[in-house]
Amino acid sequence: MAIVENIRFIEKEIEGKGVTLVAVSKTKPVEMLMEAYNAGFMRFGENYVQELVDKHEAMPKDIEWHFIGHLQSNKVKYIAPFVSLIHSVDSLKLLQEINKQATKNNRVIDCLLQIYIAEEDTKSGMSEEECLEILKTETLEKLPNVRIVGLMGMTTLTDDEAQIRKEFKKLCEFFKELRPQKADRSEFSTLSMGMSGDYAIAIDEGSTMIRVGSKIFGGRIYQK
Ligand SMILES: *Cc1c(COP(=O)(O)O)cnc(C)c1O
Repeated sequence: MAIVENIRFIEKEIEGKGVTLVAVSKTKPVEMLMEAYNAGFMRFGENYVQELVDKHEAMPKDIEWHFIGHLQSNKVKYIAPFVSLIHSVDSLKLLQEINKQATKNNRVIDCLLQIYIAEEDTKSGMSEEECLEILKTETLEKLPNVRIVGLMGMTTLTDDEAQIRKEFKKLCEFFKELRPQKADRSEFSTLSMGMSGDYAIAIDEGSTMIRVGSKIFGGRIYQK
């Protein structure tokens, strides 16, 4: 019950702001997701391929599944038949594989390019230069079965609100820079940024999609 209340609370906060909520359900059992589903919520985010595949199999087929974690090329084939949006495309090579698997499944798969915005050293995401390279018409023409619908970014893990705001602002500026160039492709409209601890700041700075886990489902316990 608390799960549904948490979702309703966040939905109320984002009402009228043009922001979509993705409930990040990683590590949580199907029963918890079903509580949300039975209350009418059907958009979940997962970051492990096997877990996503298992949950997709176990749950109703009208759910919108988002993949938000680091994706290895050799695992794309498992999620390509059903995934709604891949938030975490971090290389051209990965995008090419998604295009290949989407073609096999007769689908066009929506993707976000994950941009590296944090100051800390992390392997996830690409630079703005790499992103521009991918968005070139010549590159995209060879990838007809993927549709780049926007960008995703994660900030430095810090309590420094000014730092977080700065990083979100930077990503949003880049997003806005790209949009006019893609005026013919109105689908470039998603800016996925903001998690449990920082989604209010992210929305302030232009987010259109927030990925909220612990604030809905409670903290996660990871087994070592
Ligand atoms: C786990 C995760 C989230 C959600 O994190 P919370 O702090 O629990 O809201 C969002 N985005 C990504 C990419 C994640 O891996």
